[in-house]
Amino acid sequence: MDFRFSEEQEFFRKTIAEIVDKMIVPKAAEIDEKDEFPWELWKEFSKLGYLGLRYPEEYGGMNADKVTTMIFYEEITRGSVGFAQSVIMNMLMGTYFIHRFGTEEMKKRCLIPAIRGEKIATICFTEDQSGSDLAATRTTAVRDGDGWVINGTKMWITNGPICDFCTVLASTDPSKGLKGLNFFLVEKGTPGFSTGQVLNKLGCRGTLTGELIFDNVRVPAENFLGDELGKGVVYVGDILDEVRIMTAAMALGIARAAYDEALEFARKRVAFGNPIGRYQLIRAKFAEMTAEMQAARLLMYHAAWMLDQGIPCRKEAAMAKLYATEVCQKVVDEATRIYGANGFAYEYAPQRHFRDARFVLYGGGTQEVLKDFIGRLIIGKI
Ligand SMILES: Cc1cc2nc3c(=O)[nH]c(=O)nc-3n(C[C@H](O)[C@H](O)[C@H](O)COP(=O)(O)OP(=O)(O)OC[C@H]3O[C@@H](n4cnc5c(N)ncnc54)[C@H](O)[C@@H]3O)c2cc1C
Repeated sequence: MDFRFSEEQEFFRKTIAEIVDKMIVPKAAEIDEKDEFPWELWKEFSKLGYLGLRYPEEYGGMNADKVTTMIFYEEITRGSVGFAQSVIMNMLMGTYFIHRFGTEEMKKRCLIPAIRGEKIATICFTEDQSGSDLAATRTTAVRDGDGWVINGTKMWITNGPICDFCTVLASTDPSKGLKGLNFFLVEKGTPGFSTGQVLNKLGCRGTLTGELIFDNVRVPAENFLGDELGKGVVYVGDILDEVRIMTAAMALGIARAAYDEALEFARKRVAFGNPIGRYQLIRAKFAEMTAEMQAARLLMYHAAWMLDQGIPCRKEAAMAKLYATEVCQKVVDEATRIYGANGFAYEYAPQRHFRDARFVLYGGGTQEVLKDFIGRLIIGKI
């Protein structure tokens, strides 16, 4: 066994960490406070080329392995969760189906500009009445001559208010439930496609999240993203492990930001004549946080390594997400306590991490859904 990153991965980690410290960390509080999309930072950051990290070089990507990609997700989220969420959406789910099923023309029009940061991408599953339960999807796509007509409303869409294109989940046959679901590409400017409400969120601010409306949106037949009708949910299954491991990496990024600041604070803050870090109860917090973050890190990178090796990792990916996101909740809570009253003040960072931490609980499966899934895998058919 070898638990170390390779030399290339370690070099990448240092490089991206430095970039995050210089470019993103100083802007994180402002991004959160303004809750506006940081266009300048987006332009500056996308020039570095990382948005194509997981895609082949022919599209402007870097063809990186999954461990490297997770290092990136962890580091960028440590900088700013809101900014990271927009970046990661462009890098992963916003472009995944286009890369996998799109025509070369579509890749030129959407994938390559998204990798360059010239276009903003997103994915639309969630609706008012359907989140975890995809079978409840009400958006429909009806065949009409040589195209499809899409009707419905999507909610909670990352980058929705500013997206140039989206991959939308719609039912082509509501009588078939999950087996009637399929993905379609819809581009900005298509008649009937519009943005609705922009959500005012507790955390993960600075990435714009909102409603997308599809009112008799007509797209050509080639915008169906798949090789067979009715396999949309199967395709989701193909990328779900990566999404779950990515969310675990984001959870670790948030935890690390909160932990690093709390550590600095504990070394400096004096109470009863001593830095508070000298008191056993504060040391115990760091002992627990450090051990639990390390356990989460091992689960997450082990699952990423399994993906790289082509070893099935359904359970491991789900466990990484479940555990890392819980550790994240604990670390931000402890960090806020270590800060005392200052942890309750908007001038200091802990409250931001405390709010941001909630975000990782939902995507890729809620805790309840994951526990049920992992339990089912363990117990098997009975
Ligand atoms: C900041 C942010 C950005 C997002 N971006 C996107 C995006 O870009 N695209 C997109 O499509 N969606 C997006 N989402 C939505 C996200 O994917 C959903 O929140 C998620 O799928 C959960 O769905 P829900 O919120 O509707 O909760 P529900 O699924 O309605 O769940 C409500 C509660 O019921 C529990 N529950 C549900 N089913 C079960 C079960 N079988 N057993 C036990 N308990 C259960 C859940 O755990 C939860 O506690 C985003 C959400 C957030 C917060």
